[in-house]
Amino acid sequence: MMRQYELVERVKRYNPNADEALLNRAYVYAMKAHGSQKRASGDPYMSHPLEVAAILTELRLDDATIVAAVLHDTIEDTEATREEIDTLFGHEIGALVEGLTKIKKLDLVSKKAAQAENLRKLLLAIADDVRVLLVKLADRLHNMRTLHYVPVEKRTRIAEETLDIYAPLAGRMGMQEMREELEDLAFRHFSPEAHAMISARLDEISERSGPVIEEIEKELATKLAQYGMKADVKGRRKRAYSIWKKMERKSVSFEQLSDIFGFRVIVPDVAACYAVLGIVHTTWPSVPGRFKDYISTPKQNDYRSLHTTIIGPGRQRVELQIRTQDQDRINEYGIAAHALYKDNRASDKSALARESRAYEWLRRTVETLAEGDSPEEFLEHTKLELFHDQVFCFTPKGRLIALPRGATPIDFAYAVHTDVGNTAVGCKVNGRIVPLLSELHNGDEVEISRAPGQVPPAAWESIVVTGKARAAIRRATRAAVRKQYAGLGRQIVERAFERGKKAYSDEKLKAALPRLARTSLDDVLAAVGRGEIFSGDVVKAVYPDYKDEKVTGVEANRTEGGWFGLKKAEGLVFKVPGAAPRTAPSIPIRGLNGDLPVRFAPNGGAVPGDRIVGILTPGEGITIYPIQSPALTAFDDQPDRWLDVRWDIDEAVPQRFPAQLSLTVINEPGTLAQIAQIIGDNDGNIDSISVTGRGAADFREITIDVEVWNLKHLNGIMNQLKQRPVVSSVRRVNG
Ligand code: MN
Repeated sequence: MMRQYELVERVKRYNPNADEALLNRAYVYAMKAHGSQKRASGDPYMSHPLEVAAILTELRLDDATIVAAVLHDTIEDTEATREEIDTLFGHEIGALVEGLTKIKKLDLVSKKAAQAENLRKLLLAIADDVRVLLVKLADRLHNMRTLHYVPVEKRTRIAEETLDIYAPLAGRMGMQEMREELEDLAFRHFSPEAHAMISARLDEISERSGPVIEEIEKELATKLAQYGMKADVKGRRKRAYSIWKKMERKSVSFEQLSDIFGFRVIVPDVAACYAVLGIVHTTWPSVPGRFKDYISTPKQNDYRSLHTTIIGPGRQRVELQIRTQDQDRINEYGIAAHALYKDNRASDKSALARESRAYEWLRRTVETLAEGDSPEEFLEHTKLELFHDQVFCFTPKGRLIALPRGATPIDFAYAVHTDVGNTAVGCKVNGRIVPLLSELHNGDEVEISRAPGQVPPAAWESIVVTGKARAAIRRATRAAVRKQYAGLGRQIVERAFERGKKAYSDEKLKAALPRLARTSLDDVLAAVGRGEIFSGDVVKAVYPDYKDEKVTGVEANRTEGGWFGLKKAEGLVFKVPGAAPRTAPSIPIRGLNGDLPVRFAPNGGAVPGDRIVGILTPGEGITIYPIQSPALTAFDDQPDRWLDVRWDIDEAVPQRFPAQLSLTVINEPGTLAQIAQIIGDNDGNIDSISVTGRGAADFREITIDVEVWNLKHLNGIMNQLKQRPVVSSVRRVNG
């Protein structure tokens, strides 16, 4: 394991002004925090953050990045806290370590190749600072270098994730060296057989060609020297993974040296690059179609180099990359090669130029990383203000869902699938139950609980932020309402046919659709349910000879069965004449949660045990009134709107129903409290209480809206109230 002084030395080698005390403090702090923790290899855990820091010293990064690397696993894996790190190392380092902690949590989720692009965006969204990504890449590189200690079953997933996410990320950041090593290490574990086959073949060809590499290097160097060129020539064996990719892409096998070796010519300046190219092309024949000028037209990630292939010394095909020292460094280290470490030895002027070029480079890199998305905000110094208008969340199975900022679990549910959204009833975020209306954050794991047959509340429409969710909710609520009306319409229509002693069938009604000027059965039924078409007219459309006896409500009461058999007595009160014979079965009423559009009389309500009638109200469905309700006289002259209904209470699903009480009470302190107490003690639910008038002298009139299980329950509460000395009288409103 690296010693404390070794770490400091490594940094001082490229940055003589490094903050030694800071580095030492970080070393000691992390050492203490990780204590006796061990890695899968059996090494002390501390060896890992130190190796990560070492990788970053090779990239010559600044003190803050090196310290963040040393501390990168402390918040997640030890007792260390952000506050403590802020206090000891400052806010900048605290923020870097926290960024790494957030990213680490993502490692717990399994990822699929299809969502790799989203995941890269998530990394960028979470990492506010590009240095967080650099530490993360170094962390992954060290973990890949030691992957063989990890249990076999985990290796494939980690290798796959590296190929899908981290290697491409390194590539986009211009870090070829990092990308190639990550790819190669991943390839080794992801396709062990392919890797072994290619490695064996590489060794074989290298061995067979003997010292030819050195000979080519030498001959190239000599030739260039003859022209007075100062050039550094190096042969370089390609990595197994890049050969594998080429074989897959071109479905070819590799046989020649040029397939596995590339030569790099490094020269002092750009003019020299073209001069070298000229010398090479006049000395040896070039292979047509292989020349590329990435100096005048750099690649998107700022890669600059000349590429060519020649039939070189010994008739070998030789691939050449010609570039400057600076270009080489940027090609290999990308973003890390730029301004992140300020070169103290350079003059002020060139430092400034370097910084502004680096800024420009970062800006373009971010644009490249965004790939197609147009980031509105530009980079501010080294901050990545990317994807701040988006949040990325996971399903429990690790699928990544991208949502606009401000999205709720409802939006998430609809993004997963419309059915999931429509049947969502609750949710857990990161294992905790939260309201469906909460705002989601980056990296949240969201689990939606569902109830089949559920209809999304219409109110959701104004809460969600995604168009998909809004449209789906609108569709679902419309469909549900329409289904309710069609269901009610069907009940009304079937009963109307029965009362008229005519046979009903869907086919007969379908045949009569033109006469009703409707296009579908559901259309007619929903219209009847909404009160737009009278049921008698439907019967007539099917049986044109049918005579609808249009009579007034009161007449109807006298002449027909069911509630139609009621007689109007004195005053406004209806009386129920026992079990009157019925000509048609009544419509079952299950309450507000049934499948019919039902509401209860706005003044007084209705509860099971009450004899009830329904009044069809256009656009609102059925309103249920107790049969003795004086409000019913208002509908006396509209017999078509009267519906014969009965209670159909499902014992398994207890529901409360509304009723209204009117009390005359003594006006003294504590009266209301006493009344509320009695109702509560008797399991009644008070919806509202209002003082509606002054009674005689010291009395007050109070109106209470209560919710009760049934008539017996209501009567029990009323009796309890009557027994109180403060209560002078109790009566039910319209009941
Ligand atoms: Mn780590």
